[in-house]
Amino acid sequence: MKPYILAETNWKSVKDSKVDLVVLPWGATEAHNYHLPYATDNIMVDRIASEAAELAFSRGSKVIVLPLIPFGVNTGQLDIKLDINLNPSTQLAILNDIIDVLNRQDINKLLILNGHGGNDFKPMIRELGARYPKMFICGCDWFKSFSNSDFFESGGGHADEMETSIMQYLVPDLVLPVSEAGEGIGKKFRIKALNENWAWAERKWSQVTKDTGIGNPKKASPEKGEKCFLQIVGKVADLMQELSRADINNMYV
Ligand SMILES: [Zn+2]
Repeated sequence: MKPYILAETNWKSVKDSKVDLVVLPWGATEAHNYHLPYATDNIMVDRIASEAAELAFSRGSKVIVLPLIPFGVNTGQLDIKLDINLNPSTQLAILNDIIDVLNRQDINKLLILNGHGGNDFKPMIRELGARYPKMFICGCDWFKSFSNSDFFESGGGHADEMETSIMQYLVPDLVLPVSEAGEGIGKKFRIKALNENWAWAERKWSQVTKDTGIGNPKKASPEKGEKCFLQIVGKVADLMQELSRADINNMYV
């Protein structure tokens, strides 16, 4: 029973405990090439949240992790079997209701730990920050916290070498051998600026990749996954610790 994991703890422990920071992990349920489970994003973000919270808690941070939200924005994958989509407007409604509770209880700091590229909480944080001025709402995309080439030979971002390596480390029983995986070849846009990332349009996933992956997973290994995972956990733990301590009326130097 970890006191920093709400799903495991109890009223006896919670009712008198001080909470400085609430963490909400948010994933997605979607196909990840042929070899990784649909819950890949959920498994990774949940483990990063719980292990980072363990570290932060052990250093005195009053942090608690909420149960994860398992569905994300998959508007580009609506034709991929059993990819489940939550629209951004639904996410905004869910976030609003969670923040309403925290706000009433004077728990003023929320970290949304995001594990899925299609989720974009920035505009929601702006809107909810204006609606709940006593709240400090922070978003973090864990997958942007490190440089891919420090650990891996190839990138891609979806069921790629990085995701495969971390999953091989965390849940080897849920990962098929990479010999079963497709090569994760992702087509590029015909329009230049969209590939240079200064213009943006949603990709129609089923037209971009045959196996649902983007990025070749063949060189993945659990050893690479462990190194990368531990670095991510350390950085997210530091973020949790700093947020827990922060005085939200005095945030700037
Ligand atoms: Zn993923």
